[in-house]
Amino acid sequence: MESLKNKLIRFMVGRYGIDQLYYVGLFMALGLMLINMMVHSTILMILSNGLILLMVLRGFSRNISRRRMENEKFLKLWNPVKKAGRIFFRRIKDIRGYRYRKCPHCQKTLKLPIKRGKHMAKCPECKETFAVRVIV
Ligand SMILES: [Zn+2]
Repeated sequence: MESLKNKLIRFMVGRYGIDQLYYVGLFMALGLMLINMMVHSTILMILSNGLILLMVLRGFSRNISRRRMENEKFLKLWNPVKKAGRIFFRRIKDIRGYRYRKCPHCQKTLKLPIKRGKHMAKCPECKETFAVRVIV
């Protein structure tokens, strides 16, 4: 007798599976469901359930190259958003001790310890110095 795990493994052979788009799609569907709990809209219910169904069908798809291309297109849009969000939360976390300033020469963002007033900072990347002004 074959275990359920082995049956599932045999079923998923040659199928696409789970990727980043799957997780974001499910998270968005969950968000729509939470909004729908307050609004009670049929359209939102259909959208969230359709999104879940679409993500599950993508996972079972045998057209792996096409699913991979979809995920790559999604990641091209998603990665800049993810990076901006990570920087935003890091800035909030460091707000007591550091300020972030962009180097005017190489455009690299630098994490500088708080030193109030106007002073000079040296970029570790391009070794140029520039004026930094920290008010708060
Ligand atoms: Zn620089």
